[in-house]
Amino acid sequence: MSEYQDSTAQLRAAYDGIEPDLRFRDEVPALHACRLALNALAGGGYGVGALVMSEEHRIFAEGRNHLFGDALDSAGHAEMRALDTLESLDEEHPPPCELSLLVTLEPCPMCLTRILYAGIGEVIYIHADDEGGMVQRRELLPPAQRELANITRFRVAEVSEPVRELAARLSVAQLEQKRQALMAAQGRV
Ligand SMILES: [Zn+2]
Repeated sequence: MSEYQDSTAQLRAAYDGIEPDLRFRDEVPALHACRLALNALAGGGYGVGALVMSEEHRIFAEGRNHLFGDALDSAGHAEMRALDTLESLDEEHPPPCELSLLVTLEPCPMCLTRILYAGIGEVIYIHADDEGGMVQRRELLPPAQRELANITRFRVAEVSEPVRELAARLSVAQLEQKRQALMAAQGRV
């Protein structure tokens, strides 16, 4: 698939070309998350962005993938960053169970568990991750975490096709280079 070779510039052009379709309820925050994903990719990380918002779409925290800084930041996933920010906010915000976490890519096992521990009420993801996503496999969680998952809502974002495609392209952009960078940071090559 040619999408795997997408450069940051190509993805930025795709982002700039999207006219938000407001018939889809998650379109605007989803585009915002895509912007964060684009920034993550431009910063050398994986193309994933996340935000935490209220039902009225007020954004309280956001995060982007930041795996490769000066050193490997193995917990530097977009969702982890957004939750770190949320939990360190001074400003009043609704309790976690009344908030939604929206992310461009289905959360991995680490992030899903963190989301459950944080008590976020709803998880919304744009692109399903058949290789590494844990939401669609949450029945495989240990009983204690599964119990938390049972009181959490999960859904795929309601967005226009161009936004869904952009999130998918961001998710797989430069994947081989990222994998090599991860192996190098772990000292395996
Ligand atoms: Zn993750």
